[in-house]
Amino acid sequence: MTYPSHPKERHCGRKMIPHKWWHSQALREARAVGDGWRIFLDVYNAAARDPAALQEIRAERLAQSLERAAQTEFYAPLLQGKDLSIQAAAQTLATLPALSKSVVRGSPKSFLTGLVHEVDELRVQTSGTSGEPMKIVHDDSLLTEAAAAGLRMLEAYGLAPGYRLLRFTSDPRHKLVDFGASPYNGASVVVTVNISKIDRETCEYVNRICEDFRPHAVWGQPMEVLLAMLRQREGLLRLPKPMRVLTHGDTLDPQARKAISASFGAPHSDLYGLQEFGRVAWECPDSIGTYHVEEERIRVDVAQDGHLLITGLVNKATAFLRYQPGDCAEILRGTCPCGRPHARLTKLEGRQRGLVVDAQGQFVSVKPLRLALEAMPLDRWQVQQDVPGELLVRVAPSDMAAGERMAGDLSDILGKVVAMKQLTVETVELGELAAGGEKAPHFRLLVTQESMSGSTSSGTGLW
Ligand SMILES: [Zn+2]
Repeated sequence: MTYPSHPKERHCGRKMIPHKWWHSQALREARAVGDGWRIFLDVYNAAARDPAALQEIRAERLAQSLERAAQTEFYAPLLQGKDLSIQAAAQTLATLPALSKSVVRGSPKSFLTGLVHEVDELRVQTSGTSGEPMKIVHDDSLLTEAAAAGLRMLEAYGLAPGYRLLRFTSDPRHKLVDFGASPYNGASVVVTVNISKIDRETCEYVNRICEDFRPHAVWGQPMEVLLAMLRQREGLLRLPKPMRVLTHGDTLDPQARKAISASFGAPHSDLYGLQEFGRVAWECPDSIGTYHVEEERIRVDVAQDGHLLITGLVNKATAFLRYQPGDCAEILRGTCPCGRPHARLTKLEGRQRGLVVDAQGQFVSVKPLRLALEAMPLDRWQVQQDVPGELLVRVAPSDMAAGERMAGDLSDILGKVVAMKQLTVETVELGELAAGGEKAPHFRLLVTQESMSGSTSSGTGLW
C-alpha cells in the first residue's frame, strides 16, 4: 500500500508543494477507493473463502503490528527482547496486559509509532458513548482497508458498488434532507433524512425524495430506524422497500431486530464497530446474531470475564494491542453455515442510546447535549427525562465554588442546543451521581430502544 508522501518529501525529483486541499475529506475518500479496490482483490477477496490464506495474512499482519508497537513509548519496554516473528507473534501478544481506555486517555501520545507524518494523519474523535471522548490518530488505512473490507461486506449483503443509500439521522444539527456521496463506502450515493424534523408540512417532500431515490439500503442507528418506523405509524413517512436495512452503533435487543425487519419487509443486518478501529465485525446474512470479524484488519480475543480485547493490525500511526472497549461477547471459531472462515462474535453486549423528547414532542439525538456537557469543566453529569418536553440535568462541577454560575451558563447553552419547555440544571456533589460505587449512566431517558420497539410493534403509546 502507498501513502501520500508528505510535502517535505521529494517526489519525482521535485519538491512537492503543499496545497490547501491536502485535507479535503472528499478527495481523501475518493482517493481511498482506488487503493481499496486493489486491497480488496489482493487481500480481502483472496481470503474470503480460503482459511489458509486468511491465516497467513493475519499472522503476517500481527507480526508487523507488534513491530510497529515496539517503536511506541508504551509498548517498547513491554516488547523488549520478545520474539516478534510471524510464528511467535500470537504468543507474544498474549503476554501483554489488557489496555483500558483510561490508560490511553492518560497518555495518548505514548501509543504513537512516529511512522506517519503529521500531515498524513487522519484523526477521529471517539463518541464518548462509554466514557469521555478522545482523539485517535490513524493513517490512510482507516479509509483504504475499510473500503476494501466494505466491498466484501456489501457483496455478502447483495449490494454492489454505486448502490443508493438512505441514511437516517436524528441529530438536530443536521438538515431535514441532505445529499451526498460516500466513495469509500462502496462508492455509494447517499441521501440523509433527519427523521426528527419530519412534520405534516414537510412529509410529502421527504416521501417524494425517498420514492424517487429508490434506495438499495437503509442505514442508521437502531433508535433512528425505530423512529422512522414510528413516523410511518403516525402517517408521516412511507417507508421505502430496500434490499437490506443496516444498523450500527448500539447493541440491538431481539425485539427491535424483529420489528425492524418486519416494518421494512427486508432482511436486516447489524454492524459492530468503534471509532478506535472503524468497523470490527458485521452480521452474517446466513447466521443471524453472529458477526464475522474483519480478521484481516482486526484481531479479537475475549478475556476470561467476557470482555473483548481488540488488536489493530493495519493502523500504522497508532498501536493499540488488546484494547478493551468495554463491550462483551463470545467468539465462535467453528465453520459458519455461510462457509466464510472468519471468526464470529455472538451475544454482543455493550451500549444502548436513547432519544430526548423536545418541547414540540420531537424525538432528537442526545449527541449535541453530550458534546455541550463534555465541553464544560465537570467531573460527572447526568441527563434525566421523566416527562416529554422537560429535562433535568444534574452536574458535578470540578470546582464546586463556581458551581452556581456554571449552572446558569449551562442552562443557557443547553437551551440553545435543544428546545425544551422546562430545563433544570442542578449542581450536585459527585457522590450523588454515583450509586453503589458504580458511576450513574449519563442518560436516563423515556425513549429507549426497548420502549420504541415495543411501541412500533404493538401499536401502543410510548408513555
Ligand atoms: Zn457466516
